[in-house]
Amino acid sequence: MIIETSKSLFNKAQNFIPGGVNSPVRAFKSVGGDPLFIKSAKGAYMYDADGNAYIDMINSWGPMILGHAHEEIGAAVVEAVKTSLSFGAPTEAEIDIAELICEMFPSVEKVRMVNSGTEATMSAIRLARGYTDREKIIKFEGCYHGHGDSFLIAAGSGAATMGVPNSPGVTEGVAKDTLTAPYNDLEAVKALIESNPDNIAAIILEPVAGNMGCITPKEGYLQGLRTLCDEHGIILIFDEVMTGFRLSQGGAQELFNISADLTTMGKIIGGGMPVGAYGGKKEIMEYVSPVGPVYQAGTLSGNPVAMAAGYAMLSHLKSHPEIYSQLENTTKKIKEGFESNLSKLGLNYTINQIGSMISLFFSDKQIVDFETAKTSDTELFGKYFRGMLNEGVYLAPSQFETLFVSTVITDDLVNKLVEANYKVLQSIH
Ligand SMILES: *Cc1c(COP(=O)(O)O)cnc(C)c1O
Repeated sequence: MIIETSKSLFNKAQNFIPGGVNSPVRAFKSVGGDPLFIKSAKGAYMYDADGNAYIDMINSWGPMILGHAHEEIGAAVVEAVKTSLSFGAPTEAEIDIAELICEMFPSVEKVRMVNSGTEATMSAIRLARGYTDREKIIKFEGCYHGHGDSFLIAAGSGAATMGVPNSPGVTEGVAKDTLTAPYNDLEAVKALIESNPDNIAAIILEPVAGNMGCITPKEGYLQGLRTLCDEHGIILIFDEVMTGFRLSQGGAQELFNISADLTTMGKIIGGGMPVGAYGGKKEIMEYVSPVGPVYQAGTLSGNPVAMAAGYAMLSHLKSHPEIYSQLENTTKKIKEGFESNLSKLGLNYTINQIGSMISLFFSDKQIVDFETAKTSDTELFGKYFRGMLNEGVYLAPSQFETLFVSTVITDDLVNKLVEANYKVLQSIH
């Protein structure tokens, strides 16, 4: 019998899968080294093909907020599997989860289930364009909204004017309809609106950014966007694929007390199964087919097994509201531990944290947008990442990703994490 290791699996994978991975960031390209192949995970720990255990600080990029292999969610899936894996016809489970989402997100009056965050954002902007009969959208530099063509636009210094595609295959025609502005800069948004009168369908953003590292909105920023959208008939889309059900039951909207017109969801909403959703004001959502003219569909949308996982996850979160203060406390302890390490070592790096999202930026600047995030020393981050892995801690393999704390991170694990952080920071300086 051949005993496969991460190394042998990665070598084999590269023969059949581009780069050996089904999503690029898994390839460890920006941190150096080869990806680990995971065999199983339970609670806070993930186990690789070589038999190593890691404290998981990514949690499948967010979904596993309760830790891995949670019994309630697993049991719901097993029950659902017994009734067939898919019908392609409506089920009661879809109503249950839709009702729950509408309860947890007051701005969401109607919701459509899809299969990923990418599908949710693509559908939401199509809907916004159809509803407003306008063509352009505004997105923010460093915000990620999945890999839909309209979102793969680099801002660069031409931010105030026209989008430039940052992936081959995205046409200039698509790119010109995506305007970009720096995050946390209301004036830049005002300027874009003024130079494109009555032609902006939507503003889409991560209300707390997690895809350029964790960056929080400045005081008044979200409210400012809300007001601009109201004044100019623009649809405000909060992309809560990451923040939804993570920062609070009602996502960033509940935390900052702002209602979006449309909200996109993913990650936690599927409890680990591939699920996304978009929803919002009834009047806008009724523009979606079959009631309205904007077409959007999915063979496996609302899949019964996925709905069972998602429903179990969301009901658990709803009936355990104390989870959010617990997560915040745990994450604050991690932050304080890291800060104390930095000061002991005479280092001056920046830590951003909100709720259970936290980033250590290898920069001494305040990190408020993509420009400032890019001042981070990514080579040093690579060393830190590999060092932490060596200490048994699995971080996101990129400086520009937030970490996700789960409910199974105990004080004991916080201590392990903080000790590993000290040891590694010391060894790389
Ligand atoms: C992950 C993410 C997406 C894309 O979701 P997928 O399920 O990977 O397609 C979109 N928006 C945000 C904010 C995300 O974090």
